[in-house]
Amino acid sequence: MTLSDDELDRYARQIVLPQLGGVGQRKLKEARIAVVGAGGIGSAVIPALAGAGAGHLTIIDDDIVEAGNLHRQQIYRERDIGYSKADLALQFVQRLNHHVSAQPIQARIDADNARDLLAGHRLVIDGSDNFATRLAVSDGCVALGIPLLSAAAVQYQGQVGLFLHQPCYRCFVGDAFDAEDCDSCAEHGVLGAVPAAVGSFAAMLALNSISGVGDSQFGQVHLFDGEKLTWRAMRIPADPACRACGSA
Ligand SMILES: [Zn+2]
Repeated sequence: MTLSDDELDRYARQIVLPQLGGVGQRKLKEARIAVVGAGGIGSAVIPALAGAGAGHLTIIDDDIVEAGNLHRQQIYRERDIGYSKADLALQFVQRLNHHVSAQPIQARIDADNARDLLAGHRLVIDGSDNFATRLAVSDGCVALGIPLLSAAAVQYQGQVGLFLHQPCYRCFVGDAFDAEDCDSCAEHGVLGAVPAAVGSFAAMLALNSISGVGDSQFGQVHLFDGEKLTWRAMRIPADPACRACGSA
């Protein structure tokens, strides 16, 4: 896949980076990425990926914009209240970068539809707000052999982890969260800048992973503490009894 003169000009400030270069930029252009959740995490991930020239974004969200989203979901405006987040995120991408294609899917991912919706992507980035969705996304990624970048933020805390095969996200959190309860922002609150910081970090990791910059991050989780303002990395052990990846 080649880059047009327009693209070479547009991405010049990052193509000049020796770590990325034209080779990395072409890898970004070839990438089909699924973004699950166009909320606080998605509002940071989507602009960063679209701006950087990630070739295709599938944006999956069944929600509409509410006034209480606007303090942290920065791709939306007051006039967007009541409208589909997936459709609005598509419009955002189209206005930002016409070289990027995007497909909005108004659906909630569950165990029944996860594989169909996620198949064919180079990377899945999950910024959904509940464990039932996150685990369905993770199990789908394990079954399909697609890398999963899972990102979450609540209160002043955040986490970002990259998984492929084993260990998986389910090894990290266990089976106790399959119910639709979760630590959602609605129940526990979240400072708007926290998902912005965590989502930007996730986007960084996604761009590095796709373009081949830096060391492998698989099986590593990064924890953000928004009060101490620190990041900490930890390696996740595989759970031999994990019902998603254990028998793989
Ligand atoms: Zn597992």
